[in-house]
Amino acid sequence: MARILVVEDEMGIADAVLYALRADGMAAEHCLRGEPALARLREDAFDVAILDVGLPDLDGFALCRRLRAFSDIPVIFLTARAGEIDRVLGLELGADDYVVKPFSPRELVARVRARLRRAPVAAVAVAAQGFEHDAAGQRIRYAGYGLALTRYEYLLLAALLSRPGAIRSREQLMDAVWRDAPDTVDRTVDTHVKTLRAKLRAIAPDADPIQTHRGLGYSLRT
Ligand code: CA
Repeated sequence: MARILVVEDEMGIADAVLYALRADGMAAEHCLRGEPALARLREDAFDVAILDVGLPDLDGFALCRRLRAFSDIPVIFLTARAGEIDRVLGLELGADDYVVKPFSPRELVARVRARLRRAPVAAVAVAAQGFEHDAAGQRIRYAGYGLALTRYEYLLLAALLSRPGAIRSREQLMDAVWRDAPDTVDRTVDTHVKTLRAKLRAIAPDADPIQTHRGLGYSLRT
């Protein structure tokens, strides 16, 4: 069941949206304010976030910016004024869609459905490889077993899992994984791929899901 977080301070609007989402078979949760919404989005995996731009504590743009620091969840903005639309489109916040108030809840549900259809391409491929990635909990399961990973092993595998089949160069993986780490060299990637492979092999000896592309980098086998 798709999980939707609705962040809206006007109860009338929130109620109508929640009702329409639930009537369509989705699990919808509601936050009145931005800060508690961020906390919920950190601790649980949602499929779509619907953010009102005009919130009392933290406006929807600031909320989205902070959300993007840790999540790629599809975001749909609810905007009240035409002036806000320019900001939604102009700020490159990583919003996926917007709806202008007043709107029909059915139209919003249709937009949510459209996001859900587009979203889980990677998730399906990942599932096919036997991985389950709990991004919020920073845990990865493989063939049904929880992996005991170091911080960099986790970030490295998460980077490969985010786009199965895509070849990542050592440089790209360094940027994605060792962004905050000082004084590291290319071999760091190879070393961590090696320890990762050993942990995966211990669970499924013949699978070898991480593929080496000589001179290019690594990918997750699809
Ligand atoms: Ca509002």
